[in-house]
Amino acid sequence: MSENIQGFNTRAVHAGQAFEPRTGAVVPPLHFSSTYAQDGIGNLRAGYEYGRGGNPTRDALQEQLAAVENGTHAYSFSSGLAAEDSLIRALAEPGDHIVLGNDAYGGTYRLISKVLGGWGIGNTPVDMSDHAALKAAIAANKTKLVWVETPSNPMMRITDIAAVAAIAHEAGALLVVDNTFASPALQQPLDLGADVVVHSTTKYIGGHSDVVGGAIVVKDPVLAEAIGFIQFAVGAVSGPMDAFLTTRGLKTLGVRMRTHSENAMAVATWLAQRPEVQAVHYPGLESHPEHELAKKQMSGFGGMVSVQFAGGEDAARIVAEATRVFTLAESLGGIESLMNYPSEMTHASVKGTELAVPVNLLRLSVGIEDIADLIADLEQAFAKL
Ligand SMILES: *Cc1c(COP(=O)(O)O)cnc(C)c1O
Repeated sequence: MSENIQGFNTRAVHAGQAFEPRTGAVVPPLHFSSTYAQDGIGNLRAGYEYGRGGNPTRDALQEQLAAVENGTHAYSFSSGLAAEDSLIRALAEPGDHIVLGNDAYGGTYRLISKVLGGWGIGNTPVDMSDHAALKAAIAANKTKLVWVETPSNPMMRITDIAAVAAIAHEAGALLVVDNTFASPALQQPLDLGADVVVHSTTKYIGGHSDVVGGAIVVKDPVLAEAIGFIQFAVGAVSGPMDAFLTTRGLKTLGVRMRTHSENAMAVATWLAQRPEVQAVHYPGLESHPEHELAKKQMSGFGGMVSVQFAGGEDAARIVAEATRVFTLAESLGGIESLMNYPSEMTHASVKGTELAVPVNLLRLSVGIEDIADLIADLEQAFAKL
């Protein structure tokens, strides 16, 4: 039976995770070896030669990642940005052009504009909900890649993946979706027409704030070959321990995302009725401008909530430093709740650009703690305002 016929959680638990044949160890062993004995010159066992080119623990993760994204090939990297860098260099060359969302992750914009820009790859940020602007930017630049993040960070905007895929394909461009925020448990971009899915597995897939990693998933053998070559030739691969931790996290992604989504909905609802709050950005709220699209495109609304304060920057800073269950820290997607002040933390790199974020905004990564404790923590922090 093809793995894609099975349900999401069955794939997450079993894909690439067959028990070890010699001992029956149910959890496949973690392989640290950097090199592999050859039975004669060039006579390899199971194709393994050298750790940068292949490692059984990394392969197990890659099989699992391909299965949960309904892809055919996945590649695991040492970080999300390493994956993005390898992806862009595999699919674009100097003179090519990328259209990306104007609220892309700050590190992605920094990579595309400050690093790859210097190597001759152009970019145009656009509002991905403005399809006329998107078409115009693609047509004006003979764009090679369209880059979408949905939900976006930190404004939680939702992009119509199927519609943008059609626009990209009509112009001969490929659609890349950064699926970090939704995770494959809630959204399957390849099924909606995307050509490539990219992840910071540091976030929900790893899920426990204890490993940095990235991944690329595709369903086209030509793209797969190009990306596989760059992964091997550039070498930004994940190490065996990182791959093992990521695999362990991915097995429980489905159950974690259910609780993240439930808790985030409760936090967003609580925030929305507070007088200190100017705006709440959460796709699960009916007041969200793309709520209907999110309902159609996702099977849950995820754990990320952003909030803007009527009291401006001062109010945002006071709450950010007053919570006790929510920890003030960058990153997201772990089981523990985190509080982030994007304009000085995660998004400091886009300050002063058109991707800059409001100074009265906090981004909450809502964890899987008991909801009563999360609300009580916010209540005591709001009492300081
Ligand atoms: C964190 C993040 C990245 C970068 O990933 P790293 O693992 O930190 O290199 C890319 N995209 C999004 C949406 C992210 O949140």
